[in-house]
Formats: sequence, C-alpha cells, structure tokens
Amino acid sequence: MIKFLDLQEINISHQAEIEERLLRTFRSGWYLLGNEVRTFEKNLATYTGAKYAIGVANGLDALRLILRAYLELGIMQKGDEIIVPANTYIASVLAISDNGLVPVFVEPSLENYNIDISKIEEKVTSRTRGIMIVHLYGRAVFSEDLAAIATKLGLKLIEDNAQAIGAEWNGIKTGNLGDASGFSFYPGKNLGALGDAGAITTNDEELATTIRTLANYGSKEKYVNMYQGLNSRLDEIQAAVLDVKLQYIDTDNQRRRVIAKRYIDEIKNPDIILPHGPDDETEHVWHLFVIRCERRTLLQNHLTENGIQTLIHYPIPPHQQQAYQQFNHLSLPITELIHDQVLSLPISPVLTDSEVELVIDGCNTF
Ligand SMILES: *Cc1c(COP(=O)(O)O)cnc(C)c1O
Repeated sequence: MIKFLDLQEINISHQAEIEERLLRTFRSGWYLLGNEVRTFEKNLATYTGAKYAIGVANGLDALRLILRAYLELGIMQKGDEIIVPANTYIASVLAISDNGLVPVFVEPSLENYNIDISKIEEKVTSRTRGIMIVHLYGRAVFSEDLAAIATKLGLKLIEDNAQAIGAEWNGIKTGNLGDASGFSFYPGKNLGALGDAGAITTNDEELATTIRTLANYGSKEKYVNMYQGLNSRLDEIQAAVLDVKLQYIDTDNQRRRVIAKRYIDEIKNPDIILPHGPDDETEHVWHLFVIRCERRTLLQNHLTENGIQTLIHYPIPPHQQQAYQQFNHLSLPITELIHDQVLSLPISPVLTDSEVELVIDGCNTF
C-alpha cells in the first residue's frame, strides 16, 4: 500500500539529529518558553524574512491569537467582518467566529483553488476589517491588486500559512506577505512536529508583543495579567524537533515539486483534471496534490484497489457544516463543485520514484 503520507518515514529520515535534540531538551530540565523555542523562533523569523516569530500551541491558535490581538488593540471590534475563501479548511473560519468576528466567504478560482482576488472588493462593507488569505494546498496567493485593495480600504491582511511554509511570491516568502501570518506544524504539514504546534510571524512589533502576552495568560510579568489571555505556548520539545526539520524544508519542498511535475506531465487521463502549476515554481510547495474528477468515488476506489491511498481535502465546505447553520443557506457553486470533485494523491518528500510511477499508472488505467 502506498500511504497517503508516511509520517514515520519522514521523521525517521532525520532520526539521529532529532533524537539528539530531544535528549538535550529532556536533560535540560526546562520544558516551556526556553532556549529551544527562542532558537526556533529566531530561525523561523530569519527563514521567512519577518521580524518577529512567536511559537504557539497549534495553527488554529495562531490564527485566533492574531485576530484576538487586533481586538485587544482596538483595531477590530466584535461583529466586524473578515473576508475568507469559502473553500478553506474549517480552522480559518473558526479563528474568525471564535473571536466574535463574522466570516464573509469569497469563492475561489478554479485555476488555482485560491481565493479569487477579483471577487474580494464586491464583498467589502463598512464593517470589513480584514482579509484572511489562505495559501491553500501549498500555493501562495498574492498580487499587487490584493495589496492595493487592503491598503486602499485600510484592511488587515492575515495569512493562513498552515499549508505553504517555504512558498514565495515575487521572492517574498509566505508569512511575510501580509500584516500577520499563522503557521501550523501539525504532524502532516510540510514542516511537521511530533504533535501539535504553531507559530505567528509579523513585522508589527506592537502586534507581536500583544500576541506573546495573550498566549501566555495575558501576562508579560508573572502573576500580572493585562488581558484575559489563554495558554497557548509552543513546547520546548516540539521547538527542538521543528528547528531540526526547518533546515530541510527547502530540500523537502523541492522533492515535492519534482513529484508534482511528474504527475502533471505523465498523468494523461481525460477524466482527471490536473492542477495547473504556477509559472514560477517557487510559488508552490505542493502540500497537497489535488486533482478533480466527476466520478471521484469510482476513481478513489480504483486507486485503492491498486494499493494507492488517497484523501479528500475537503468533503464538506465550512458554509455547509452543521457547526455553521447560519451559513447553510448560502450558495457558493464553485466551492461546492470543488468539494464534490477533489481528490488528493500521495505526495511527500519520502515518496519514491517507483511509488510515483505506480500512482501515475493507477490514474492512467482508470
Ligand atoms: C492545518 C490547518 C490549520 C490549523 O492548524 P492546526 O495546527 O491543526 O490547528 C489552519 N488552516 C489551514 C488551512 C490548515 O490546513
């Protein structure tokens, strides 16, 4: 069976280095907000080019904390609207609604599955305070137009960078394109921890300080609480692992690009709609390789019978979830079509050439 994602293989490929850092952390006797977190934060900031990086407990918290900080700073008020792509993973939307803000869904482009930038402005109202862009499936979404809209209308540009660490737009890394960015290091992400972990990057010093304080019980000085904060800290152990793996992220992403290119060049089945690679390959880090097929269930069954595990990202869009009944009446046809047809093929830095060939054959024999 070709696994969709072989996490054991991915982590074992760095076993010696990871074990050494884990042992060092274990023996240090210091398990939260210490040297490992500081080192990783510094290296993540350097990697993305952003001035500040703050480690937190997970990717959802990273996004929640950014918006919470904007509320505490008076830049946003409860009831304000945040624009978000309708086909994103639920976490982007949860971060908005959890803060008493209102998600306003914008349809994606079928060309690249990212938010259709040309449809943003028509959704702006007097309550709009931000745009959350999501670099979905690992593909960076940005444009001069988008930056101009945000500047003109005074909107904060928040990146959900859970899926696209290492991607670039015009030589600028995701995580350094907007006003603030949330990262997830969930084990299955391109940079994955051995458990939950996340981070925020920003160039805004006041925002960085507020987020750091909020994530630590709203406290800068022990037992003195400025805000009704939360406990969302990155563990030393996770930071140690992430700091090792960060060194390999570009190599890992490059291997994903090679696999994606082979899929695009060699899958030749008229029933399968392949993703379009960007002209500039650095824009995509291929967190997921997502194809579309009208007969998705049959294709998935065919691949399973051929020993290939696939997944659906995602089967139900946020506006159709039971959790968001207030949005169930919305009609978002492009988003709904995507959710009916998408299927993700295996892609990872440890997928071998012969496995890649089997996936290609599996698709071509459907
Ligand atoms: C994974 C993911 C998140 C949430 O990250 P967690 O670490 O699982 O909380 C947010 N947004 C997107 C697009 C994701 O893929």
